[in-house]
Amino acid sequence: MRRALAAASLLLTTVARQGTAQSAAPDARLAPGVPHVLATERASHIRDVRYALSLDVTRPDSALGTVVVRFTQRAAHEVILDFRGLAVTQVVANGRSLSVSEPALWNRAHLRIPASHARAGENAITVTFASPIAAAGASIIRSRDAADGEDYLYTLLVPSDANLLFPCFDQPDLKARVTLSITAPARWAVLANGAATRADTAVSGVTHHFKPTQPISTYLIAFAAGPYMSVSRSQVISANTAPVDVRMLLRRSRLQEAESDTLIAMNTQALRWLGDWFGVPYPFGKYDFLLAPVFPFGGMEHPGAVFYNEQSFIYRERPTISQTLGRQATIYHEVAHQWFGDYVTMRWFDDLWLKEGFATYMAAKMQADISPSANAWKTFYLNNKPVAYGTDATAGTTPVWQSLGNLEQAKSNYGAIVYNKAPGVLRQLNYLVGDAAFQQGVRRFLTRHAYGNATWRDLLRAVGGAADRDLTAWGTQWILRPGMPIVEQAVTSANGRITQLALTQRPAQPLISGPAAWPMRVSVLLYYTDARAVRIPVEMTANRTIVTAARGLKTPAFVFANDGDHGYAIVLPDDASVQWIERNVGTVRDDLLRAMLWGALWDLVREAQLSPSRFAAAALRELPNERDEQIAATLTGRIALALGRYLSDAASDSLLPVFERVLLAGARDTTLGYGQRKSQLDAFIRAATSPAELARIDLWLDADSAAGLPLRAPTRWAIVTRLTANAHPGAQERFRKESVRDSTGEGKRLAFVAGAAVPGVAAKQAYYARWFGDSTLNEEWVTSSLRAFHDPEQAALTQQFVVPSLDTLPWIQKNRRIFFLGAWLSAAIGGQNSAESLQQIDAWLSAHPALGLDLRRKVLQSRDELERTVRIRAQYTRTSN
Ligand SMILES: [Zn+2]
Repeated sequence: MRRALAAASLLLTTVARQGTAQSAAPDARLAPGVPHVLATERASHIRDVRYALSLDVTRPDSALGTVVVRFTQRAAHEVILDFRGLAVTQVVANGRSLSVSEPALWNRAHLRIPASHARAGENAITVTFASPIAAAGASIIRSRDAADGEDYLYTLLVPSDANLLFPCFDQPDLKARVTLSITAPARWAVLANGAATRADTAVSGVTHHFKPTQPISTYLIAFAAGPYMSVSRSQVISANTAPVDVRMLLRRSRLQEAESDTLIAMNTQALRWLGDWFGVPYPFGKYDFLLAPVFPFGGMEHPGAVFYNEQSFIYRERPTISQTLGRQATIYHEVAHQWFGDYVTMRWFDDLWLKEGFATYMAAKMQADISPSANAWKTFYLNNKPVAYGTDATAGTTPVWQSLGNLEQAKSNYGAIVYNKAPGVLRQLNYLVGDAAFQQGVRRFLTRHAYGNATWRDLLRAVGGAADRDLTAWGTQWILRPGMPIVEQAVTSANGRITQLALTQRPAQPLISGPAAWPMRVSVLLYYTDARAVRIPVEMTANRTIVTAARGLKTPAFVFANDGDHGYAIVLPDDASVQWIERNVGTVRDDLLRAMLWGALWDLVREAQLSPSRFAAAALRELPNERDEQIAATLTGRIALALGRYLSDAASDSLLPVFERVLLAGARDTTLGYGQRKSQLDAFIRAATSPAELARIDLWLDADSAAGLPLRAPTRWAIVTRLTANAHPGAQERFRKESVRDSTGEGKRLAFVAGAAVPGVAAKQAYYARWFGDSTLNEEWVTSSLRAFHDPEQAALTQQFVVPSLDTLPWIQKNRRIFFLGAWLSAAIGGQNSAESLQQIDAWLSAHPALGLDLRRKVLQSRDELERTVRIRAQYTRTSN
């Protein structure tokens, strides 16, 4: 195994060198970022990397550091380190100083140590440097607590910011043992991947020393420093090892609000369950987690030092089921990464899906096993499939495996394809090979590549080996090929018996995917109102599959070709099934099936095959009877979309009062669970439009309750935002009062969001300028405010910001974190619904032929929904229904 990989790397190196020699162009390896050619070359000759990294974070805007990089190499090869921080002040290679004023030494992207200063065997390179600390755009994020004025720091290096923090080999397959020491102000606590060993008082503060880590990738290195408080519990995480202190760190000002015992217990439960399932006990010794303030992600899986998003982990009001399940899924996801991502890591970020897909899939598997009554696969379907299909059916889709020429572009590889499609593809793989072979294959994969790196081919080899099945063709279709299938059902019957049931596959985007069929195993459901359902396993291998086992069976009420959600496809039922589903979906007791049937109706709307008014009518009829909180919330969201986007203005105006009535009645319905009432209340606040309804929510602020439910922040802020967006009389005064009432850090963030909703040109322009010009503004605040700024009801006002928003994409790609660009685009384009805006975006795309393919795809992904909106509106405004 090892030999084969080394040989492959050498071959690539040779090819790369030839490429360099043939042209007089600058050395491609030294380009900004981390070119893949550089990473491949380094991986072929560098081994056994260790970083001893000392950082002083006592200054407000920069960290001063020294790193000793130790490694071995076979020959005295030139050494290239990656670094794009603020300054390099000293470089010593194997005891010999290099002149830092020499431009050839540091080009602000890489440090180049000539072969004359390198050695065969053990090398030690010491670099003294400075790197930035800032609210945004730095690898050390600083956030100031509005409650007590304290500063809190934490790092976030994924995917390509380790080289902004310190000189290193910034690629996932040069794993290193990292020994950190951090000098911080005297009262501060410091958390890092490794266990703390001792603390020394120095001149500028206290230096905290940590044990060397296991071999980890650079993007997983992490520390946090600040006056954090901690809560620790001794926990048994494996039957065969001693108890471990599971420790939570958080800001002092939020200590009282956090459910520390619950959060520690959930992390522990995941560590234990996953260790058992993988057959590998937790591989990193100590386990701490941090609730990171204004964190731009849901969580980040640093080994031994997981970071979670504080604001989604501490509830300021009673949470809904979706919120608590979401928090649990985030914990399970990040803990699953300790094995998938941290213990075995993708070789390069082209295989990002491998870790993200697995973490989400394993989180659902764990949830299904630990709490069977929670119906984890329904949550999995609702949270992943519509999002995945919503991207994968667009002209901007990519394969699950995404080629990546430079780490600098790795941010573009994040999105629905790796987070939502990849787990769906793994669910299909699990169903194809069966539970036992899937688990056995995964265990083999983890054992074979322990503390190392692997690719998707290694995974399919391991799972295929366990299943005794060659998965090469399967991988080609599902991992390397972009796009997804649409499956259409055709049923013919005679005398009450099925004469033929056919499933036809076609690609959602034939120009991108090509015509071939995706191999897929599904369970086809024949549903009867007066008899037991029939389920037929079907393996589709061609574009047309006849379900022979269905012939002669009694004609069912409806057919559904993806029972249990094992397949990955948009399933469009046949007309007879659609008619039954539209009328009777509420009578289907199986929650997952009912969720999927609503999904199928919605997909028909989005394919412009079912009118949005028919969907809205069925959904408004069933919503008051729906007893599943998550399905009710999904239906509510879809009715809002149908009314806000797809229906003609006249149709929407006539249905809106009905929608408002249904939501308000639902919020007041004491026979419903709290979460369902609360989510209907939230939807009512978002939908309130008429002066009477706006006046109603305005009065709720005085009453401190709404529809019989207590009214707290952040719901109070949602009302203020809604009043602001509609310029309701007195909205400014409400804003002022609420800012006084809720002066917490969270309150300040939500006030910033509300301000973005002000419907005036000057106000919008001021916000837009501040997003870019205010260096104290945290990135997460900007992200939070995007939706309110681009409120779809203010489309005419915000249309002028669409082109500037597109123009700034290259800057955003370079300077903002992973999920920002997607949020930016979906808010800016999603805030529009007219053919004119669509033309504007298309004209911009035509005028920018040199736009990077990754950015073009991101625009196309967001453009798709606008294009559908325009198509649906045109079609169903023309015809009466
Ligand atoms: Zn993840």
